[in-house]
Amino acid sequence: MIFLASLYFVLGLCIASFSNVLIYRMPVIAIKKQKAKEGIDVGEIESISFPSSHCQNCLTPLKWYHNIPVFSWLFLGGKCAFCKSKISIQYPIIELLGGLFMLVGFFIEVGSFNYLELFKALIIGTLFIILLAMSIIDLRYTAAPDELLYTSVVLALLYSFSLKGITDALIIAGIFTLLALIVSLIKRRFAMGSADIFIFAAMGAVLGLNLAFIAIFIAAIVSLPAFFIAAQKDYELPFIPFLSFGLFVTYSLEMQILDILNQIYG
Ligand SMILES: [Zn+2]
Repeated sequence: MIFLASLYFVLGLCIASFSNVLIYRMPVIAIKKQKAKEGIDVGEIESISFPSSHCQNCLTPLKWYHNIPVFSWLFLGGKCAFCKSKISIQYPIIELLGGLFMLVGFFIEVGSFNYLELFKALIIGTLFIILLAMSIIDLRYTAAPDELLYTSVVLALLYSFSLKGITDALIIAGIFTLLALIVSLIKRRFAMGSADIFIFAAMGAVLGLNLAFIAIFIAAIVSLPAFFIAAQKDYELPFIPFLSFGLFVTYSLEMQILDILNQIYG
């Protein structure tokens, strides 16, 4: 059990390490592609795998042992091995969170060591890593790459692996599309990012209808203070981080949440 759990933790570190690359490259690639479409010369457009990992400052390609999740950052004291410029602590933090997500998935899903449970743990852990990557991109650019949105819905559906998962995803996404349309008609401008609809769908598939509403409720409560601050500064509030947080909390604390609801409603 401890061996398998450690394996999942390390797997989480590695997937999150890859997601660090996505967080930095996907928005840059998307912006350059858009500019190229408008006829602006942007030079060579990077891809996810090219060029290989390099220092953001001195552009020296990294050796494999500079790329080991968390350890390399600690070993190098948070500095580039070549030019000694600072490397953001965001890298190891995201990697550690990835390991943690995978562990949470492992301990919630895996009881009797059958392949389906191990598969579900892997899928849900990966989903949370993708949601974290999208949250950070959303915080920086108030947008999310389509590829990651689609991936998150596919992972959520794989996780539910049932017709109910599909219908719950469609119902939740449908309800919130309708709400967004109504609010948009009242405010005479589009009120919700279309990206959010995908996250709603993923929530429906993973949690089922009832718990998905609780997750959205948690997201709404947590986002309220930020919403008021953002409204005063006329800053468009990214909603993916809050929805992802609501999904993660509800998934992790499902039993406790159901207990509380039972106590309230008998
Ligand atoms: Zn460097």
